[in-house]
Amino acid sequence: MKEWIRADLKKFMPYHSPEKPCVAKLDANESPYNLSQNVRDNFIKWIQENENLNIYPDTDQVELRNVLSAFYNVEPQNVICTVGSDQLIDCITRLFLEAGDVVVVPKPSFSMYKNTTVMNHGKILEVELEKDFSYEEDKLIDAVKANNAKILFLCSPNNPTGTSLTIEQMKKIIENVSCPVIVDEAYAEFDDVTMIPYINDYKNMMVLRTFSKAYGLAGARIGYGIAHTAFIEAVEIVKAPYNLSTISQFLAMEVIKDSEQYKSRMEEIKAERDFMYEQLKKFKWLQVYPSNANFLLIESERDMDKKLLEANILVRSFSIESDKVRRIRLSIGDRQSNEKVIEVFLSMED
Ligand code: PMP
Repeated sequence: MKEWIRADLKKFMPYHSPEKPCVAKLDANESPYNLSQNVRDNFIKWIQENENLNIYPDTDQVELRNVLSAFYNVEPQNVICTVGSDQLIDCITRLFLEAGDVVVVPKPSFSMYKNTTVMNHGKILEVELEKDFSYEEDKLIDAVKANNAKILFLCSPNNPTGTSLTIEQMKKIIENVSCPVIVDEAYAEFDDVTMIPYINDYKNMMVLRTFSKAYGLAGARIGYGIAHTAFIEAVEIVKAPYNLSTISQFLAMEVIKDSEQYKSRMEEIKAERDFMYEQLKKFKWLQVYPSNANFLLIESERDMDKKLLEANILVRSFSIESDKVRRIRLSIGDRQSNEKVIEVFLSMED
């Protein structure tokens, strides 16, 4: 096979996620909550009464885009829906990149920006965040200009650091670059800072959202972009037909209809995050960073990776073997899961 694979992809490894049994799954920033009771009831009823899965889904997602546009007070033509926001990131890089074009991303940030850029023949340029992981907007602007970058990804709150950009910072960046700017708001429901109200002021900006995090629908794979109509129409060129299943479209609409229930869950996750932050701060041998998302970034010289794994707790590790400092991203779970993490850290005290 190797001889037929594109030269630049030969060394790429397929993406796999660990499917091992665990006592707490805190590695993928999923919601600890499953479907709400209303959504569950309506889903069962819908399956019983509307069995139309022999028909392709609505490729234009008219109903879902209507629901989302009403929810965000934009026009349906400002919305595009994809199989997770991962698919939208792929569409965007495919649409804009010619071989060798530069894409600017913060470092550290979400790994898919890099993967899809390389898959789509682009080159990645990483701009380090500050020591406290805050953004320095001039560095990003300079990097875009100096390299004639074709896309700039901003992630706010940023995965894995939990740090956000302010509206003023984002405006300044967008006003000072002349390429498409993607504002990935996958975790914005935990932060309440959004660029959605400005989509018509900035034709070169697209806001990415997902149902995988705050809305607990990671298993249904639904993402969407909100942007000026011209940006949406451009991305539609590369969107796969019938990309989002009828089932996913239905679930997304139901979740939005039950948004009050979901909002109270988000408040609970935020409260739990703040609880965990306070608890973890008590351990003097680790550093926990403040976060605006549903996860915490933790650093320590003690081997947290090993101890958590031994306790069958899954977290996302960014530790590098040769480095003294271990670094993990801990998703916020329910109280029971979170307490299990605290127990492990207690067992690591002197
Ligand atoms: N953006 C960010 C910042 C993420 O962390 C993730 C998921 N880890 C995604 C996008 C993709 O989410 P999904 O494809 O599930 O919508």
